[in-house]
Amino acid sequence: MAQIDDYLNNNRQYANKQGVHSAIYPGPKPIRPAKRLAVVACMDARLDVEDLLGLETGDAHIIRNAGGVVSDDVIRCLIISHHLLDTNQIMLIHHTRCGMLAFTDDLLKTGLEGDAKAGQILSSATGRTFVSPQMSVATPAAFHAFRGPIEPVDAPRDQTNTERLSWDVRRSMSAIMNHPWIPTSGSGAVTVRGFIYDVDTGRLEEVTYPGPMGSFG
Ligand SMILES: [Zn+2]
Repeated sequence: MAQIDDYLNNNRQYANKQGVHSAIYPGPKPIRPAKRLAVVACMDARLDVEDLLGLETGDAHIIRNAGGVVSDDVIRCLIISHHLLDTNQIMLIHHTRCGMLAFTDDLLKTGLEGDAKAGQILSSATGRTFVSPQMSVATPAAFHAFRGPIEPVDAPRDQTNTERLSWDVRRSMSAIMNHPWIPTSGSGAVTVRGFIYDVDTGRLEEVTYPGPMGSFG
């Protein structure tokens, strides 16, 4: 069975502009992912998960949302992926220049509810005129913006935002590894590894775990 290190080798090829992923319909495949892999990644348009890992149709479950956040629904998917469809490796992929670095939950919520100052900050951060619905709602309860000082959308990589991404990768890993219905120790354990994908180079970099998960200030 291929392991995560094999996909990291594929990624090095991809970053060197020698892709291994085929986009052609391969014919019928089994329902169980052939590589026993589940990937949780951000929805960012610059990430093509199958390409950057060299995965073929039928190889893996790809679970995506804004930020690659380990939400209730991602946990739901991972439980089904492992217990019913036999995956045993999980890769978490965050990435540089992520939009989740550029706002906070409170800023977006108050902006949506009609706070003019919040709207101005969001407009200048995104380069798009923020139009507030001026209504309060019960859901979503959280947007899960990344912890730390916000920056303009699509800001170049630096030490601060790389650290912020690392924090959130670790928080995501912790949320999975400590879920009682996802076994990550003992026999039948699921392997969990976390990465930052650099959208300017095409390369994946592994995040050490355990480590810092962010401070309040
Ligand atoms: Zn993102």
